[in-house]
Amino acid sequence: MPRIPVLNLGASPEYDAGSAPLPTPGLGLYKHPNPDGTRKNCGNCIQWMPDVERCAIHPQDLKIDSDEWCGYHMFGPPSGKPHKGVVPVTPDISGLKDVGAGAACGGCKFYTDQGGNTGLCSGISNPDTRKPPVQVDTYAACARYEGI
Ligand code: SF4
Ligand code: SF4
Repeated sequence: MPRIPVLNLGASPEYDAGSAPLPTPGLGLYKHPNPDGTRKNCGNCIQWMPDVERCAIHPQDLKIDSDEWCGYHMFGPPSGKPHKGVVPVTPDISGLKDVGAGAACGGCKFYTDQGGNTGLCSGISNPDTRKPPVQVDTYAACARYEGI
């Protein structure tokens, strides 16, 4: 039977072998930097619907501002449309949150700068060891983002 991964999207950055492991970059919905160097928010995601301030993949009764963000971000001009018949994702799964000027590892409490637009993240785990830290890009972000 396949092993079902248990995520730890809200745990302390200090790894505790007795708790659920921190997510790997993939399970934490790690996203590479925007190609134009901007920080990530709904305002530069193709799933956002600016006219009604909604997201195509979240419930349509949920107002979402341009300065929010989630781990399903897809960079591009906002042009979302609701997907009929598809069960929407909820904020506890997507990591939806207010990110102010935009999400980026460089502004996350789990990030330690290493110079050269890279840093070490203590909020996700190495896929091989299941322990932090993991090298990340300064302008990347994942669903565990917590602004400082
Ligand atoms: S909530 Fe996530 S998927 Fe939806 S528009 Fe914002 S970043 Fe994109
Ligand atoms: S620094 Fe923050 S946003 Fe970046 S990968 Fe780590 S937890 Fe996610």
